[in-house]
Amino acid sequence: MPKYEFFRTVNENFDRASAFLDVEKGLLDQIKSCSSTYHVTFPLRRDDGSVEVIHGWRSVHSSHKSPAKGGTRYAMTVNEDEINALAALMTYKCSVVSIPFGGAKGGVRIDRERYSRGELERITRRYTFELIKKNFMGPGVDVPAPDYGTGEQEMAWMLDTYRSMVDSLDSEGCVTGKPTHQGGLAGRAEATGRGVFFGLREACSVKEDMDMLGLSTGLDGKRVIVQGLGKVGYHAASFLRESGAFITGVAELGGGIYDEKGIDVALLKEHIKETGSIRGFTFGKFIDRADELLEMECDILVPAALENQITEKNAHRIKAKIIGEAANGPLSGEGHAIIKNRPSLIIPDIYLNAGGVTASYFEWVKNLSHIRFGRMGRRYEENSTSRLIAAIEERIGAKFETGEIEDIAKGPQEKDIVDSGLEETMTTAYQLLCDERSRYNTDLRTAAYISAIRKVALSYEQLGIFP
Ligand code: NAD
Repeated sequence: MPKYEFFRTVNENFDRASAFLDVEKGLLDQIKSCSSTYHVTFPLRRDDGSVEVIHGWRSVHSSHKSPAKGGTRYAMTVNEDEINALAALMTYKCSVVSIPFGGAKGGVRIDRERYSRGELERITRRYTFELIKKNFMGPGVDVPAPDYGTGEQEMAWMLDTYRSMVDSLDSEGCVTGKPTHQGGLAGRAEATGRGVFFGLREACSVKEDMDMLGLSTGLDGKRVIVQGLGKVGYHAASFLRESGAFITGVAELGGGIYDEKGIDVALLKEHIKETGSIRGFTFGKFIDRADELLEMECDILVPAALENQITEKNAHRIKAKIIGEAANGPLSGEGHAIIKNRPSLIIPDIYLNAGGVTASYFEWVKNLSHIRFGRMGRRYEENSTSRLIAAIEERIGAKFETGEIEDIAKGPQEKDIVDSGLEETMTTAYQLLCDERSRYNTDLRTAAYISAIRKVALSYEQLGIFP
């Protein structure tokens, strides 16, 4: 994709969908545009004493709901167009899964591998400082989260910087994806991948779609190729594998692994962690050019790296019948059009990777309520279920095994509640997408945009446009 085209692609998807709706053009233009974009540069003193100028962005696409919400990306691809496009996707994503946030995104243009831990901390703190100074961050304003190239550590630095500048009871809610000891949520780290799994499970349960693709229903036995074994790709692959799918291919920077028998992704992840590379893994076949893996025979392809991976250049060689967009924008508009021309099912990013923002919403709610999920009710539930079991035992005159009782009576931990909330969100939203798809006789991406635009437009109409 030429450098500044991601936002154009998002807007083309928007236009295709809005043509189905009776919403006035001016309002559609308002929904489409980014409310505000902040580009900041600041100097970094490198460990060797030299000075480098760092570029960062934060974009708020919509504030029809507060706060705005979106991840923070550290990558060399980061520029204003990319951040605006990703912020827009956040608006539509939150809307699709009914999360009451506006859309935002931030990023710093760095290759994190080139920086020491100390340098990354200085970059993160300074970037955060700049956002706070311009009121681009706060629990009720705009709440960053991890994205490509960032994780719990960066979120902890952001929180600490925020706390050092703002004296507020709710400061923990200024950022999500934090370590659990800093107000983070049990299950947030795997939430996006878990959501991808729930979404694919739902997609594979629709018999008419599977018949159309010549596949059986269910995940069991499906051959899956994953691009990017990072936070999203790894957890998605692990959950899919647990459910009986075979991860037959993994593409990473520097190469890929293909194994028809299925790859043990936990082992592979461990190998990458230990050696710093996918090379040298003892199982499967090493593929030198990782992008070749995208074109190999499989049932489900899960691009979980960056945008624009399937374009007019390679789309006609992609053999996967189902493409699950775990990454944001992995298919260009042209790529989508080519694949759509043959029997295929493309599960769009604004639905499929929404598990991340869903869990972030739970984390933010937890931070503002200052209590972990399950703390009040867990023992109560456990005790009442135990009493119920005792009553049943008395009635039937037989005893359950001790282990059995513990298993049935067990009250939910925070992670169980988060998982249940995620499953509910992803399952309900998929049903909604299928309904919109049938109602408008369109594809899932257009259906997702229709659903998102309708809700955002309604919100603007009800709130009125500020004079
Ligand atoms: P990450 O940094 O944890 O992992 C990305 C992985 O992709 C890395 O291991 C990297 O080496 C690999 N990669 C990069 N380019 C590649 C290529 N060309 N071929 C193969 N592998 C490549 O990032 P992440 O958080 O997993 O995010 C991945 C995607 O998911 C991004 O598009 C992001 O915006 C999207 N997403 C992330 C979240 C989240 O909660 N982290 C939520 C929603 C969407």
